[in-house]
Amino acid sequence: MIYLDHAAATPVSAKVLQAMEPYFREKFFNPSAAYLPAKEVSAKYEEAKNTIAHAIGAKGNDLVMTAGATEANNLGFTVLEPGDKALVLETEHDSVRRIITQNRQFSTRSHGEFIGVDETGRIRLEDLRDKLDDSVKLISVSLANNELGIIQPLAEIAEIIREVRFDRLRRGVKRPILFHTDASQALNLLNINVARLGVDMMTINAAKVYGPKGVGALYVGHEVRLSPLSVGGGQEKGLRAGTENVPGVIGFATAITEAQSHLNGNRKKYAKWKKLFLDNLNDYTLINRGKTLDNFIVICYDGLDAERLIFLLEERGVYVATGAACAASKGVGSHVLAAIHLSASKIAGSLRITLGETNDETQIIEAAKIINEVVDAERKRVNG
Ligand code: PLP
Repeated sequence: MIYLDHAAATPVSAKVLQAMEPYFREKFFNPSAAYLPAKEVSAKYEEAKNTIAHAIGAKGNDLVMTAGATEANNLGFTVLEPGDKALVLETEHDSVRRIITQNRQFSTRSHGEFIGVDETGRIRLEDLRDKLDDSVKLISVSLANNELGIIQPLAEIAEIIREVRFDRLRRGVKRPILFHTDASQALNLLNINVARLGVDMMTINAAKVYGPKGVGALYVGHEVRLSPLSVGGGQEKGLRAGTENVPGVIGFATAITEAQSHLNGNRKKYAKWKKLFLDNLNDYTLINRGKTLDNFIVICYDGLDAERLIFLLEERGVYVATGAACAASKGVGSHVLAAIHLSASKIAGSLRITLGETNDETQIIEAAKIINEVVDAERKRVNG
């Protein structure tokens, strides 16, 4: 098998599994319990939170641990009160986008609007400026997009937000303006620091950094007031009730530490592999351009059906994706590729290839060769 879909899921690394293992069995105690072994587990949990927080330049106390990035994104949007507006990049993951298009609770309280992107998927800053009226309380722009890998200029956005803050202060407008980013895809390849990026909230996701699935966190800056999505035992400062996922959070701490300590090596390695892959590939159109994560390759075979290509590649042992994994399983065309104005036939012929730790150079060359063969055979079939 040659797995080229690391943006959808990454395997738990051996180190992460080893770190988690004791907390399933001998150290299974509920961190809220009063006896010593439970208190020790509680201390390890807090230590793990601190480790995760340090990796993004924050403190453990600033994190709300969640069951993944979807929940963290949804939690971030509880900052909105009646009359507030959210501005959301149109290419965001559905766990952000659908809060404003589908969540009835949200739409009765607040309203949302999309910010457009250019043909590479980068935010159009002038569109953001145009839409920044006094009703805007929240702006949400991912650090790196999950379909294109495009890296957004968060520091530039934060600068615009700072200007608006200053202007509101000067005019006596009371509504705060907050900046949220979903950094789920970026932890393996980008050096992340919440202060340097200028964000008030950040979503992170263990499942994309060789940690366990269903484990994530929301970094919450000191100015931010959230409401819990669930109530109960008061864990996570009352913002996320439910017994703590101790093994998951311990695993996340190991995973994020590993990821952040190999950033430079990873970047170089994936850039080299990406070049090797494209050098070995015939007659493709590269879709993701500009400043992108080094492990993301989006290519298009105009006139071919990517769904069929995926099926044929799977038969040859190569696993790739079209658009986001979740959108693909519902047969919905990619809203991200539509947002960069790709034609319907190009969207239908696009493949997302995301490199990762399960790969090596031999696999990269072999995968390109298999893709060439499958595409050639498909072109012959389609063109009669
Ligand atoms: N945000 C982004 C950018 C993602 O890539 C994903 C996962 O695909 C999510 C959020 C949702 O993560 P989860 O399914 O772990 O909640």
